[in-house]
Amino acid sequence: MAKTLVFGHQNPDTDTIASAIAASYFLNNAYNMDTEAVALGTPNGETQFALDHFKVAAPRVIETADTEEVVLVDHNEATQSVANIADVDIFGIFDHHKINFSSSAPLYVTNKPWGSVATVLYYEFQNANVEIPAEIAGMLASAIISDTLLLKSPTTTPMDKPALEALAAIAGLDDYEAYGLALLKAGTDLSSRTAKELIDGDAKSFDLNGTTVRIGQVNTVDVEDVFSRRDEVVAAMEAELAEEGYNTFVFVVTNILDSDSDILALGDNLDKVEAAFDIKLVDGRASLPGVVSRKKQVVPPLTDAFNA
Ligand code: ZN
Ligand code: ZN
Repeated sequence: MAKTLVFGHQNPDTDTIASAIAASYFLNNAYNMDTEAVALGTPNGETQFALDHFKVAAPRVIETADTEEVVLVDHNEATQSVANIADVDIFGIFDHHKINFSSSAPLYVTNKPWGSVATVLYYEFQNANVEIPAEIAGMLASAIISDTLLLKSPTTTPMDKPALEALAAIAGLDDYEAYGLALLKAGTDLSSRTAKELIDGDAKSFDLNGTTVRIGQVNTVDVEDVFSRRDEVVAAMEAELAEEGYNTFVFVVTNILDSDSDILALGDNLDKVEAAFDIKLVDGRASLPGVVSRKKQVVPPLTDAFNA
């Protein structure tokens, strides 16, 4: 029988890659399963920094899940998963997102509203008394740093810091704050990326009340890195709206040092985008002070506005 494949969402981020690697190791050792961590894309600059630092190979990239059974990490929505998700059995899910999932068979689901799936997995290892190898601990620590912006994002919970400290100790990271800043900065070199790569790099699609809303996000240390390239970014967003049939595109540009974002919104329903954040878009742009989390500060108000 083919191995059970473990993977995270499309446009993989550090939490998705680290959690797939760690969940596969966990299931093989705690449940005696035969699993393989794979990915739905190549690592971004930030994730590659972590993989290089801890000398971990990037998971094999798959287009379709050529197996009978899969485990999902860091997502549960079909629109964010592998293309043939409807044709495979889902053994289990490790996640920290809102649930938009149904199944016809029972399955293992571990979903906690914590800062990262890496945090969820850290406690799974503890509960099962499975030792975490140093390089996997390093990847999990990187994932917590990435998803919580070094414990500063409002998605951070009291569970995250103890997990990060314990994982950093296992990984031999003496100064996880210095490492974390270097890791986050590795993800902010936007100059070498095309406009399409910027808007797509971290984008996810959401079905909001029958409307497909595409939400992309980039981290930077200066939002003008992106807005100085406004014309090519707008052209790339318009091309995707037309080609992929999205109704609305919201692109979030986040300053990780100031913990603020500016958004660029195009397509239909811009009145709903304005209502969601109580803003006025000027040429599609508006500032969202204090907003850094798509999951906690962007998707929920948009969901409410589209359902109003
Ligand atoms: Zn993720
Ligand atoms: Zn995550």
